[in-house]
Amino acid sequence: MDTKSEATTTFLTRPYLPPLEEFLPYLAQIWESRRLTNGGPFHQQFEEALREYLGVPHVCLFANGTLALITALQALRITGEVITTPYTFAATTHALLWNGIKPVFVDIRRDTCNLDEEQVEAAISPRTTAILPVHCYGNPCAGERLQQIADTYGMKLIYDAAHAFGVSLAGRSLLALGDLSVLSFHATKVFNTFEGGAIVCHDAKLKQRIDYLKNFGFADEVTVVAPGINGKMNEFQAALGLLQIRYVHQAIAARLAIDRRYRQAIADIPGIRCLPQIDGVTPNGGYFPILIGADYPLSRDQLYDVFRRNHIHVRRYFYPLISNLPMYRGIASATPANLPVATRMAAQVLCLPTYPDLAASIVDRVIDILARGH
Ligand SMILES: *Cc1c(COP(=O)(O)O)cnc(C)c1O
Repeated sequence: MDTKSEATTTFLTRPYLPPLEEFLPYLAQIWESRRLTNGGPFHQQFEEALREYLGVPHVCLFANGTLALITALQALRITGEVITTPYTFAATTHALLWNGIKPVFVDIRRDTCNLDEEQVEAAISPRTTAILPVHCYGNPCAGERLQQIADTYGMKLIYDAAHAFGVSLAGRSLLALGDLSVLSFHATKVFNTFEGGAIVCHDAKLKQRIDYLKNFGFADEVTVVAPGINGKMNEFQAALGLLQIRYVHQAIAARLAIDRRYRQAIADIPGIRCLPQIDGVTPNGGYFPILIGADYPLSRDQLYDVFRRNHIHVRRYFYPLISNLPMYRGIASATPANLPVATRMAAQVLCLPTYPDLAASIVDRVIDILARGH
């Protein structure tokens, strides 16, 4: 056994960065111009580059995805109750609490881990104003059905698309769905600007309102139109994003090669299964979740410990369920009996390491551990 690889830690994810020398001219330009933030030249160029890359009409950049989520809810004046998923990262539902909105949890689907669209209608009350689904692991939500429900009941539809950068279904970007979509460019995501985020929207008037809201509500030097926040992306982040966008295609291709390697090997391991690949989806390889079944020799948590002992970081994404956190578990819809699929998934799931420069030898080592169970 190679003692060196024994001692070396393998991370769940490792941020993708472009060659440093290619970033230096951008830095030089920032130092020279002293334009550090407030919608400088890189901010403008990055918005334009993202619009083009993602094939969407309007992009509003943010300092991070959480501020973008909070602002997206403000932009559409969402109040009362919002229907959402318990199987996500804490920021999704925290954004509701920051707006004084009550989350109403609906169970997820087994195949995608996304909000089960067929259970949404039963959760609607007179106070429901919006649906906030998540394209979990980049798996597309049932966009058409959700839009139909939103239209029928006069509700807004806001997607947490933090996992869905570059994902399309039948050639159409997932970001075309709903009223708004929110992206995260956090270091751990498929596309990063250290920290960062964006709202994608479909009309210029709404973009205007969002741009005011992320800049304290300032419409001009003396006019403040809303109690906005400081959500602005700075020039350093925007410059990095501009450079990263040139590399994201190859970063995604490298992730998908790892995805294929895992998928092939895991097909032969009894007791472990992958989530199904969905017809017509162009994925981004952001996550590699596996489900540990009752017929596998170890429990999910025992397997988690085996990986830890081997210095390989794996994550129980998403465990614990958001609905089980202390600030949510008092809500009637948060009870595990209301969320049986999410509860089971949270007990079975393990996300394996995946990132563009993850060595094939480590992928094989992960597979070997899964196959042997130790
Ligand atoms: C990462 C993430 C966020 C938050 O984004 P930040 O940029 O880290 O604030 C929100 N929702 C989901 C589902 C995420 O994975």
